[in-house]
Amino acid sequence: MQLEGSCHCQKVRFTLQSKHPYPFNLCYCSICRKTGGGGGYAINLSGDYETLEVQGKEHMSVYQVKLNDREQSPARRHFCQHCGSALWVWDSRWPELVHPFASAIDSDLPIPPEKTHLMVKYKANWVEPALGSSDRQFDKYPDESIADWHQRLNLEE
Ligand SMILES: [Zn+2]
Ligand SMILES: [Zn+2]
Repeated sequence: MQLEGSCHCQKVRFTLQSKHPYPFNLCYCSICRKTGGGGGYAINLSGDYETLEVQGKEHMSVYQVKLNDREQSPARRHFCQHCGSALWVWDSRWPELVHPFASAIDSDLPIPPEKTHLMVKYKANWVEPALGSSDRQFDKYPDESIADWHQRLNLEE
C-alpha cells in the first residue's frame, strides 16, 4: 500500500510503498523510546526505499548513534530539524528497505492481530508492556523480520 507521512510542522512530507504496513513492531530500546516513543516504545514499519519520495529534504537532519569513540551506527535516523518529529530509519546494511516510524504516518494503517514487543530488556522501569494474548516479547531482537511476520500471518499487501 501507499503510505503518506509528515513531520508535525509539515515542512517534511513523504510517500512510499510498503508491502509490510502493519504497525506491530514495538521497540523499547533506549534510542527508539528517547527519539520517537514518549509512551515507552516506538513502532517501526518497513517499506521499499526506492519508492521513497520526500518533500522538504532540506529541513531534515540525521542522527547516527555513537557506538564508541570511533564508530557510528550505520542506522541513519531522519528527523525534522524544526519540530523534532522522528521520521524514518535507513540503514546501509539493508539498503533496499526504509523503516518509517508509525507515528509519522498520516495514512490509516491496518490494525495488527498480534504484536511483537522487542528490546524489552532495555525498557524504562515504569513502562509495563500491554501484552495481548497472542503477543510475543523478546529481551533483544525478535526471531523474525517485519517481512517474516507479515508472511507468517498471511498479511502481505
Ligand atoms: Zn517538522
Ligand atoms: Zn529501537
